Amino acid sequence: MNRASQYMRAPARARGRCLAGCIGTDDERAEDAVGEAAGTAADDGRRAARRDEAVRAAVERGLLGPDSPVVGLLDVTGIRESAAALRAAFEDVVAPGTPVLHAFAVKASPLVPVLRLLREEGIGAEVASPGELALARAAGLRPEATVLDSPAKTPAELRQALALGIAVNADNPQELARLDALTRSATSRSPLGLRVNPQVGGGSIGATSTSTPTSKFGVALRDPGAREWVVQAYRDRPWLTRLHTHTGSQGVPLSLMARGVAETYALAEEINRAVGRQQIDTLDIGGGLPVNFASDATTPTYAQYARLLAESVPGLFDGRYGLVTEFGRSLLAKHGTIVARVEYAKSAGGRPVAITHAGVQVATRTVYMPGSWPLRIAAYDAKGRPKEGPDVVQDVAGPACFSGDLLAERASLPLLEQGDLAAALDTGAYYFAHHYAYNSLARPGVYGYAAGADGEVAFATVREPQSVEEIVAESGGAHASALTTLTEPGRR
Ligand SMILES: *Cc1c(COP(=O)(O)O)cnc(C)c1O
Repeated sequence: MNRASQYMRAPARARGRCLAGCIGTDDERAEDAVGEAAGTAADDGRRAARRDEAVRAAVERGLLGPDSPVVGLLDVTGIRESAAALRAAFEDVVAPGTPVLHAFAVKASPLVPVLRLLREEGIGAEVASPGELALARAAGLRPEATVLDSPAKTPAELRQALALGIAVNADNPQELARLDALTRSATSRSPLGLRVNPQVGGGSIGATSTSTPTSKFGVALRDPGAREWVVQAYRDRPWLTRLHTHTGSQGVPLSLMARGVAETYALAEEINRAVGRQQIDTLDIGGGLPVNFASDATTPTYAQYARLLAESVPGLFDGRYGLVTEFGRSLLAKHGTIVARVEYAKSAGGRPVAITHAGVQVATRTVYMPGSWPLRIAAYDAKGRPKEGPDVVQDVAGPACFSGDLLAERASLPLLEQGDLAAALDTGAYYFAHHYAYNSLARPGVYGYAAGADGEVAFATVREPQSVEEIVAESGGAHASALTTLTEPGRR
């Protein structure tokens, strides 16, 4: 297929200081970086101000109150800004006309309206399960803008992806064998690739490090014979035109991500040399840009990462390769806030404890691995106004029935009192959209907001709160006597 028509093209603009592959002189780059940092800081400040407006308006509007004590809020303006920043960062470094698909990792925010918003911003979808593919399709994502990547695709999933023309990255030799069979029996427009693990090492969080020597993902490139096997696999399969890596997520430093991309690029060059043509025409460099959870500052930026890649992988952006990226967390994290009412404020062992309605069900990673996933908590009063007062060391607890259910332990913030609101910041990715049904706690409602210049805030429902009737239905309510009426075969 003609890969150039698959997805949007970078505008063929000559920026003077940024022609094919070049990224400007050091002076120009320094100026750009200073201007960019100032612009980013201003955006960060406006985003924090919009968040405050939204919390106040959510209380006024009754989205948040005694009977709906926890909600997820999404900043539509901020999401649009991040999408634009991602597009611009790569437009600035790639050769004019280079096809680039930014495929949002759906697992970071599996919500149909979010995927539709991103689609409108020119962002596609990276899916890793039948459910995620269905969400992307429900959001109207075209097959050309969708990439399937899971490590455990069934034959039926592969067949469906090929029938739809969705790009597929095979994870391992057995999956490639399945693709062999499928491509023999039917024609497909799907661009097909192979995921490799360059084994460049892990970051500070084991669970999100995908490039360790023993990672479960992709073909482990440094294992004995693996590289030769990969080269031969491409020789044998002229239809294998992509190469994929995703070196890690939160906790992996930019330099390590860039090293993973560099190794993958070098392999693509080796394969293309070996087969004597540009068989690999597209590199899928994965996602993984880390997010700063310590303040409102957006750092690192997409622009920093794109420039680092341009410097450390010369050739990657010179126009010979189309590009796919798969960012998730960095597109959404800073645009989401969980807001929960303080049901009770108490003290134990001399420490104040705020019992809120946000805990393990909406912040699972933080509760189980607080060292790796700390969250900032902001205090608001019962009317949703930022709370004043001296910082007090306190625990912010969730509603679940185990003592580790803490959003934050020994956090310093104005003393939370009964009826106040605790907001868990930067939770737009991998938090409230990823409900964990502990204690049959309900999925909270999710609302998008857009703040006008006059302080007016408009809301849209992204996901209704789950009702207790739905909880019963999803918990086998229709099969209440299934077990009491089951008898052993043969027994009377
Ligand atoms: C999770 C994942 C991503 C997204 O990672 P982020 O850290 O959210 O950017 C991209 N690609 C693959 C294959 C993934 O598994």
